[in-house]
Amino acid sequence: MNKIITTSWDDGHPLDFRIAELLEKYDLKGTFYIPKKNPQNKVMNENEVALLHKKFEIGGHTLNHVNLKKLNNSNLVYEINGSYSWLSEVTGVKPLSFCPPFGAYNTASLKIMYLAGFKVIRTTQLLSPDLLLPVHYTTLQLFNHSSFTYAKHLLIRGRLIDFKLWLNSGATADLLNLIDYYLNHIDMNGGCFHLWGHSWEIEKFNLWKQLEIVFKHLSKRSEYSYIENGHLSDYSQTQNKLS
Ligand SMILES: [Zn+2]
Repeated sequence: MNKIITTSWDDGHPLDFRIAELLEKYDLKGTFYIPKKNPQNKVMNENEVALLHKKFEIGGHTLNHVNLKKLNNSNLVYEINGSYSWLSEVTGVKPLSFCPPFGAYNTASLKIMYLAGFKVIRTTQLLSPDLLLPVHYTTLQLFNHSSFTYAKHLLIRGRLIDFKLWLNSGATADLLNLIDYYLNHIDMNGGCFHLWGHSWEIEKFNLWKQLEIVFKHLSKRSEYSYIENGHLSDYSQTQNKLS
């Protein structure tokens, strides 16, 4: 039974280095999804991407932080394949993971992500304790969503099994309670606890203290494998073969 903890951090804001420092402090693994340019926010330069890559996995997040659902086929290829070759050049290795900006993707873009060479696709879907394919969901975002938002998130997407599971937590919105609830579920059933967030958002909402408390809470659990997002595909394949 696989029990996994992974984390991921989107957008490549220079404050990602503060997250990286804390990940190291608490022996956690993480993947940083970085676009080449981001019209909505500050993004680290190529030297900084290469520096971060010395210790952490860097994943693709398009070239220009665009909504893939709004692009035609040739622009999809430009943004997705472009991200793959840009990261290959900057880091010196072929990237494994990709995360579509704004959680926006469709069948056409998903196909192009896999064809480009990416092996793991991460979405912004929340409250999942499972390893899923062809797209990896997350468990929690480092952000204080309301219970109403969680309910809406799951119901709009028709995720009734995950909705029921969350209801059993008492429909709580408390981040530490949710972490305990989903880890407890994974303790019994196996699965993957996936925390994600944005450093610029943590800064904006003054969540650094909360981030450290959460990291400390997730740290050093003996029965868990701590992995980068890129290795999720190894575990999903094993799981697929077994089932
Ligand atoms: Zn993003």
